[in-house]
Amino acid sequence: MINSQRLKRFFFELVQIDSHSRDEKKVAEYLQDKLERLGAVITMDDTAEKIGGNCGNLLARISGPLEGKVEPLLFCSHMDTVVPGEGVKPVEDDGVIRSSGDTILGSDDKSGIAAILEMLHVLKENDLPFGALEILFTVAEEVGLLGARNFDTSVLKSKRGYFLDSEYVSKISVGAPAAYRMRYEIFGHEAHAGLAPEQGISAIQVAAKAINNMPMGRIDSETTANIGVIEGGTATNIVTKQVILRGEARSHNDKKLEEQVAAMRKAIQDAVDSSWIELDGKRIQAHFEEATKREYISFRIPESSLSYQLPQKAGKAIGLEMEPEISGGGSDANIFNEKGIESLIIGTGMQAVHTVKEHISFKDMENCANLLINMIQLHGKA
Ligand SMILES: [Zn+2]
Repeated sequence: MINSQRLKRFFFELVQIDSHSRDEKKVAEYLQDKLERLGAVITMDDTAEKIGGNCGNLLARISGPLEGKVEPLLFCSHMDTVVPGEGVKPVEDDGVIRSSGDTILGSDDKSGIAAILEMLHVLKENDLPFGALEILFTVAEEVGLLGARNFDTSVLKSKRGYFLDSEYVSKISVGAPAAYRMRYEIFGHEAHAGLAPEQGISAIQVAAKAINNMPMGRIDSETTANIGVIEGGTATNIVTKQVILRGEARSHNDKKLEEQVAAMRKAIQDAVDSSWIELDGKRIQAHFEEATKREYISFRIPESSLSYQLPQKAGKAIGLEMEPEISGGGSDANIFNEKGIESLIIGTGMQAVHTVKEHISFKDMENCANLLINMIQLHGKA
């Protein structure tokens, strides 16, 4: 039922529109035009001003013949891409679409947008029975889910949503971990490294001690942690006075997450506590400042829920055995679950995302669009 040529054209057109995070305006304009032709009522929120971007979240409402008779559904993809994502030249080879090798492709998340567009066209041109649909295209997903965070979900009628934003079409993410992001600023004491190193406390050394004693990587089946950024120091002949560490911890289990964050803090505390010197009869002690922020809460959608049943049954109808999985988190869907919209993540076929080797099989894109159409048809029959 889908029009493969059209789906491919949507995708090729979309990936060729530059849309780094906070610069999604041109994609939004492209979508506005397409959605208006489909009879959608379109609004854009004021997120652009809040995040310093040139575009807000784009919401389109589409009424179907079954509006009021079946529950409204939300479908969502993000419009922004990571860097380097400008001047993308998509090439197709043997059914697989790639970039020319010096940029990402942008299938994250334009494959999701293309699938949604194709679904809407099929619904309209075939006069299929469907209820109210809410289509949301968010901004700045890749830089901390800023669009989703700033979106006011009280304007939505839907109680459940589908986020087209992961790899395998046959896998649906029904859960994600909670996460913390942390920033530790470690202060030592500056001194000349050649003339008087004993008069200094190296913040780099303190940080190294702390990191060495920190539980990191895969903590257990539910929990991970990482220090991903370390910054500090000005010259080789100066005992470094200050170092900044930035990291994260994730877990599907809230208690374990709190324990992990505490263990990381303790490693820093122990390292600074044991780092001090005496200078002119005064004790100089290393110390630290911490900024730890909860990023999102975990969610788990039960298999009995309609949100889960719909893609599962629709998948079967087109020969896809849908497998539930728990994702690593960090998606717009996390934020929406937090805000009370039961949200699942569906794959689009995107692979090796956030690299210049990013690619997508066109067959997967077709499957994804077909899956969406089937979901809506099944929902209409319920
Ligand atoms: Zn994405």
